[in-house]
Amino acid sequence: MTPPDGQHGVMRMYLWNLTTPWRDGALEQDIVVHEYTHGISNRLTGGPASADCLSSGEASGMGEGWSDTVANIVRIAPNDTRGLHLKVGCYASGRGIRTYPYSTNMTANPLTYGFLNRAEYKEVHQIGEVWAAMLYDAMWNLMDAHGISGDLFAHDLQSGNALFLQLLLDGMKLQPCNPTFSDARDAIVQADHVRTGGANRCALWRAFAKRGLGTLAGATGKQHTESYVVPPDCAA
Ligand SMILES: [Zn+2]
Repeated sequence: MTPPDGQHGVMRMYLWNLTTPWRDGALEQDIVVHEYTHGISNRLTGGPASADCLSSGEASGMGEGWSDTVANIVRIAPNDTRGLHLKVGCYASGRGIRTYPYSTNMTANPLTYGFLNRAEYKEVHQIGEVWAAMLYDAMWNLMDAHGISGDLFAHDLQSGNALFLQLLLDGMKLQPCNPTFSDARDAIVQADHVRTGGANRCALWRAFAKRGLGTLAGATGKQHTESYVVPPDCAA
């Protein structure tokens, strides 16, 4: 539970009964990081005085996606490559708790913007999987370009993983209250423009366009139209 900044949040951890013996979710790093990230994303989006700006359909789903994404970032090690598949909640559940592993491979993880039109993708964690799949591709584009720091606390923004985490947090501050997928994408691209002069603009756009959130993507009512188009200067 995340009240506005200045008031205590509450994080409850549970025993999971899917294995024998039961397992404690508090012992699994990605679950704790996922929950902490709700506190960060809820407070940064729309300013610290509001903790209610990831509360509508797409935005609340993206809240889950950012939480999975930061849980992914903290588990990346310098020798990892873009072939890495990551699952969430493997220890607590014994098998993982998402539909697909996070992967840059479209066969292993086929999620695209258009999945939001499907009935089963109205639930926040399902929506979040789509957003986190896009961010996983974006993260690897930056890590392939700039390498991977072994110490996120060093805050070395020359490294791809530290820079990507910073751009995510910057984007939360820049995006409007209850952003759409397009709003949040634009905020991350803007964050890169502000912080690096746009050095990663095309790397970011290619990741979003790969999963259907290209320049011509958009939603009319509840109908989401995919686009695989990148800005002209980013076309290969
Ligand atoms: Zn969550």
